[in-house]
Amino acid sequence: MGTVFRITAYADDAQPALRGAFDRVADLDNKLSDYKPDSELMDVCRNAYAHPVPVSDDLFRVLKTALRISADSDGAFDVTLGPVIRLWRLKRVPERQQIERALKLVDYRNIVLGDHTVELKLPGMQMDLGAIAKGYAAEEALKLLRGRGISRALVAASGDLAIGDPPPGKTGWTVALEPLHERHVRELQDIFVGTSGDAEQFTEAHGIRYSHIIDPRTGMGLTKRIGVTVIAPDGMLADALGTAISVVSAQRGVAAGQALAHKYPGVEALIALDFVGAAEEQGNHHQDHE
Ligand code: AMP
Ligand code: MG
Repeated sequence: MGTVFRITAYADDAQPALRGAFDRVADLDNKLSDYKPDSELMDVCRNAYAHPVPVSDDLFRVLKTALRISADSDGAFDVTLGPVIRLWRLKRVPERQQIERALKLVDYRNIVLGDHTVELKLPGMQMDLGAIAKGYAAEEALKLLRGRGISRALVAASGDLAIGDPPPGKTGWTVALEPLHERHVRELQDIFVGTSGDAEQFTEAHGIRYSHIIDPRTGMGLTKRIGVTVIAPDGMLADALGTAISVVSAQRGVAAGQALAHKYPGVEALIALDFVGAAEEQGNHHQDHE
């Protein structure tokens, strides 16, 4: 999944369970990664055009949640962005024509889920689970530890956290949430955190900074600097909603981003704009009042 998973756990003999948790993450990497040509996901992309292909429980669950968030965000979140994301991975701004061509393959409504099957409506579609798989894997690793009797644990996949019961003698895990320049320190337990933003991954050209988060309407990386941290009762939601709220906030403002978060019970979103974005946002409000 292109990141490092780190597990912190309090237990007498944690080693075998930790091994199991990392094996579970590796298993999910083999299923959900689009960096591995022989992953289940890549296999499905090659074989599911115009006929339903049976898939693992894991892939099915991730796609089901992904499609729900796509529908709830009016397509701001879209795992069929693969062809566009591949262009941006070359670390330069793609040509307009290339983007136009790739965008023809992008529309989550062309993924059809059946009874544990997946069908793709267009040839050449490429799914990318980069915005949802880490949160799922972190939650699954935590579940595995719990199943082996280790509940005081925290699984971190860079900005995606699965947080279990508190360390001994504590009332929670102390977590610093840092969307962009903001900093919120919280005591958290039995909850999931996802963070999206362009702090680490972006492409820069002619003084413009393009995020690795893409607006599916244009095929362009976001240029408004937005950082989103989501706290959610589900790992996939925490991860994917961070990305979805980033796109919605860039398209329609922070209030629209918060409205998306509020569609999900128990979800809290911290949305930070840089100073330019914040000033624009103020300007919008001003206009609204007028
Ligand atoms: P995250 O770091 O969780 O925000 O996920 C970012 C990753 O999600 C990117 O590296 C892409 O692989 C993928 N991605 C980018 N834009 C979108 C989008 N609009 N919808 C779904 N996935 C996206
Ligand atoms: Mg995410």
